[in-house]
Amino acid sequence: ATPMSVMVGVGKAAEYGALIRQGDALQSAGKIDLVILDKTGTITEGHPAVTRVHAANADEQRLLALAAGLERHSEHPLAEAILDKAREDGLEPAPVTGFEALNGKGVQGNLNGEPVRLGNRRWLESEGLSLANLTDAENTITREAGTPLFLALGEEVLGVIGVADAIKPDSEAAIRRLHEAGIKVMMVTGDIDATARAIAAKAGIDDYRAEVLPEDKAEVVSEMRGKGHIVAMVGDGINDAPALAAADVGFAIGTGTDVAIESASITLMRGSLHGVPDAIEISRATVKNIH
Ligand code: ADP
Ligand code: MG
Repeated sequence: ATPMSVMVGVGKAAEYGALIRQGDALQSAGKIDLVILDKTGTITEGHPAVTRVHAANADEQRLLALAAGLERHSEHPLAEAILDKAREDGLEPAPVTGFEALNGKGVQGNLNGEPVRLGNRRWLESEGLSLANLTDAENTITREAGTPLFLALGEEVLGVIGVADAIKPDSEAAIRRLHEAGIKVMMVTGDIDATARAIAAKAGIDDYRAEVLPEDKAEVVSEMRGKGHIVAMVGDGINDAPALAAADVGFAIGTGTDVAIESASITLMRGSLHGVPDAIEISRATVKNIH
């Protein structure tokens, strides 16, 4: 492309809230044939809320106070949801110490010398805990596109908390525009299959990968590039940074973390997914002008 047409394209994209940080991203964007979207904070609002509290061996308030005691040390969007709910109910978070966040699993700490753990089924089961009596509550949560978080104090499972995140109002329309432009759309998430399936169906996405560990998102990108796709990755979190860097074009949601923004070649200032088809259309028009 001539420097002039690239400048015009970059300016045009900026009008749509797509800040192009690397000049060659404008030209690559028009060739994208697969867009991979992170779920939390990208397709969804990233401000989940507690939808259900199901206590098995404790009361609901105790369950929430313990969960809040862990989550007040965490910066994950799921943590915010639990803290909001505890605050709403006027609960004092339990004095949990020794906090640790485990990627793709959950969070853990100590209370009076006993381990407290809050996280997904796979992790707690791998720690030898049985969640059999919580399956019904779990299914209700996932049917509503929520994420079930199980809480254990010591070796006792106390219950499950459902946290759900609304899809951004324009995600479905933006995804439809991508499909109309002949582009495949795929979602990657650390969330479990049932929740991912429900969100993908609501957002109009045909293909998804669930239970992808943060460090493996970049591998999904590389795998799809290896199959010959020109891949865009769209994400907002620290988790997404390696995948953004591995893509042909990385789009960071501008309301996301700085690490994501620095790893991406395009920043979407409006937080809306429409910025992706906007940038692709502008790129296609720019490249066409040159020939
Ligand atoms: P994503 O951003 O795609 O939802 P993450 O890797 O951040 O993926 O999280 C994957 C899963 O790990 C969550 O769905 C949850 O089960 C568990 N998890 C991560 N962080 C927390 C947390 N702070 N509290 C409870 N569970 C968590
Ligand atoms: Mg995210």
